Amino acid sequence: MKKSILVALVCFISACSLLGSSPATPDKPASPCGDGVCEGPENAQNCPADCGLAGQPAQTQQPAAGTRGAALLYITTMTHMEQGFEDDTNQAIFEQHIQQLTYGMDLADAYGAKLTIESEQPFARANTKWNRNFMAEIVARGHGVGTHCDFGFRDPLMPVEQYAQNFRENKARVDVLVGAENNLGCSGGGGANDWAVAAGMAGFEYLDGVVGMYYLAMPLENRPDSAWTDDYIRNEGYHLNAPVDLYQRIYLFGLANAQDFVADANPVIVISSGEMGPLAGMVEGIGEVSGAKCRPECALNNADVDTLAAKIREIDQNRDRSRVAKLAIYIPANLFEPENEPTLRYFFEQMKALADQGIITWATQKQVYEANIAWNQ
Ligand SMILES: [Zn+2]
Repeated sequence: MKKSILVALVCFISACSLLGSSPATPDKPASPCGDGVCEGPENAQNCPADCGLAGQPAQTQQPAAGTRGAALLYITTMTHMEQGFEDDTNQAIFEQHIQQLTYGMDLADAYGAKLTIESEQPFARANTKWNRNFMAEIVARGHGVGTHCDFGFRDPLMPVEQYAQNFRENKARVDVLVGAENNLGCSGGGGANDWAVAAGMAGFEYLDGVVGMYYLAMPLENRPDSAWTDDYIRNEGYHLNAPVDLYQRIYLFGLANAQDFVADANPVIVISSGEMGPLAGMVEGIGEVSGAKCRPECALNNADVDTLAAKIREIDQNRDRSRVAKLAIYIPANLFEPENEPTLRYFFEQMKALADQGIITWATQKQVYEANIAWNQ
């Protein structure tokens, strides 16, 4: 009831027309912004009152019951500062990564896009060692951060408390830089051990970067099909987008354990996947098919962007609008180089066009997680 009063009040203050006496020209329907419904061309940018992102008051996030609009389709990126990086032993590499990330964020800012940078230990340690807290600078710029968890894939079974220690160690490295309140999720960490319980024990609230490795913890009958043996996952399927079903993958759901990808009543961790694969591999379908097709790497070109944009339009046509949905594009740091600028601009331009049409909304990984909580309250 409080919410309907608020909507009425907002209408009163903004003098929105309840009687159809809108001053808008007849060929241009009055903007419905402020009506409590996030629809049509409205998105978080052009109508925050109806399409609020996380962090805004719940009242603007959720219109009154009965007039509740569509849940948003968020678009996110992931950039991983990998375990194999040498930022902590080679300052020049650290500086180069900072240059690439700065270049990427500058480009993203020009188009209203948001990046999320997720760090393993070497880059996080380098922030302290070389006395530049770049992770905090990312947060200050309004982009996203999180932890990267490049462990567990080849680990044997062990007590879950022991496996949780891996998540704790990586989390602590990032917490100290950005504060635990900005470091809610880890990308990766999948393997035969119960990654859901372990990540939750370590204090993570969501897992993103969800790939084939996660299926290793599940009994064969809960994997996509009988071809998903441990050998298949370890040799081929490890980086495939998971859950493999696209319309299972784009929604967030809570798990009590790593036995399957079916929502549990008492979750310890939220799965926030939406994996679309690497930006440079869209034409090749990397993520849907094994990355082996692209060794040593896929070329980035405009066709990748066109393929992605078409896929997003298809998802927009088919998605369940009663649930927050999310897509994640993987962009490695070394793609943020001037040689890729025309295609990177084309990517951000095309995503901006989709955002301007209200089809997608840019967010950080953390913002998606929080928007999902707000939506389900
Ligand atoms: Zn990695």
